[in-house]
Amino acid sequence: MRFYSTKNKEYIVDLKTAVLQSLPPDNGLYMPTQIPELSEDFINRLSKYSFQEIATEVAKEYLEEDFEESQIVSLINHAINFQAPVSSLDDQLHVLELWHGPSLAFKDFGARFMAAVMSRLAEGSDKRLTILVATSGDTGGAVAAGFLGVDNVDVIILYPSGKVSPLQEKQLTTLGQNITALEIGGTFDDCQALVKQAFLDKEINEKYMLSSANSINITRLIPQSFYYFEAYKQLENKEEVVFCIPSGNFGNLTAGLLAKRMGLPVSKYIAATNANDVVPQYLQNGDYTPRPSVPTISNAMDVGAPSNFRRMEDLYGHLWEGMKGDIVGYAYDDYQTRDAIKEIYDRYKYVMDPHGAVGYLAAKAYQKDHPHSNIVILETAHPAKFLPVMEPILGTVEVPERLAVLSDREKVAHSLSTDYDSFRSWLMSK
Ligand SMILES: *Cc1c(COP(=O)(O)O)cnc(C)c1O
Repeated sequence: MRFYSTKNKEYIVDLKTAVLQSLPPDNGLYMPTQIPELSEDFINRLSKYSFQEIATEVAKEYLEEDFEESQIVSLINHAINFQAPVSSLDDQLHVLELWHGPSLAFKDFGARFMAAVMSRLAEGSDKRLTILVATSGDTGGAVAAGFLGVDNVDVIILYPSGKVSPLQEKQLTTLGQNITALEIGGTFDDCQALVKQAFLDKEINEKYMLSSANSINITRLIPQSFYYFEAYKQLENKEEVVFCIPSGNFGNLTAGLLAKRMGLPVSKYIAATNANDVVPQYLQNGDYTPRPSVPTISNAMDVGAPSNFRRMEDLYGHLWEGMKGDIVGYAYDDYQTRDAIKEIYDRYKYVMDPHGAVGYLAAKAYQKDHPHSNIVILETAHPAKFLPVMEPILGTVEVPERLAVLSDREKVAHSLSTDYDSFRSWLMSK
């Protein structure tokens, strides 16, 4: 499989380069030169396969030139070692629970798959591989858990001070070993800007073999396609299937678009956002106007300049009408989100996190105009990751053991400002 830069389709690299370099030198994003198509027979027989078998089939399409089949099988069995169950609220409204992994968010899929692919691709290099990652909350926890103790790889995580939940912060700052946390006095966009600048910095790239674990890395997207197939498999009624995706950087939604191009019969994607509604705005009027992010209670979606938008445009040949045909956008504020969390609990006795609740609102709105659709809402994280939001609304929320143990661990983080030069000297002196 080869990959081109969204800024220059003639700039083509192999899998190893796309994965380890993460961003093309022209600052575009890597896309597969050809999106593989799965056979209709495979799609029709999905119910015969386990999740791991489905993931292996999809992964093979991307990896088979670089890995032996047996390596792909063991890589998937190691990385995708938890399930993605669909829980139905009613006959037409379903929840795809993506929080059954170690950090309780969907980003575990991407992080674990990426860690497995990267550590293999980096074998035999002279410089240690260093993963530089900006997080608005959940990426960091998933990446830290995914890479913890992985041979020959270090991870440096940048997070916005005071803008991630206390438990999210613990997930980033308490693991130690090959994981280092940097607490940045700014927003997620500032963190992302620092990371982007470091990638373009010649001296830093001489010292480190740098790679990214943000959703800009193509190995984050590939495994995020797996569970669209898995969810479709679990639906009893496969007519008019719609996926509703609470979105920030739009990696999850882009992976869904890839699944459709690979042959999954999806009738629509719903892009659900909080007040950071740059993409729903674009879908409505054709103007793409990135702007600074604003903080919300669904903080993993507080993104003002979604990095995967360039990939989405690329998939539609930059045609607004094309994208509008496949995706419909909705945005909600924090008041509506809180009300939704309560409504979902009152009506269905289901505890939904603030990100999923934004998705629920969008799904309900879509359902008004499309009463026969079967909507799958992606529940992107476990509600216990957001206790300060959840508990005032619902009272006590049960905390899974793998999260509860973190609260007693001690936070270790280096504080830095948003100034690039200080970040740079910290990196160069490390
Ligand atoms: C990262 C994240 C999102 C946003 O996903 P994107 O792929 O960046 O659009 C939504 N919800 C949760 C809980 C997340 O961690």
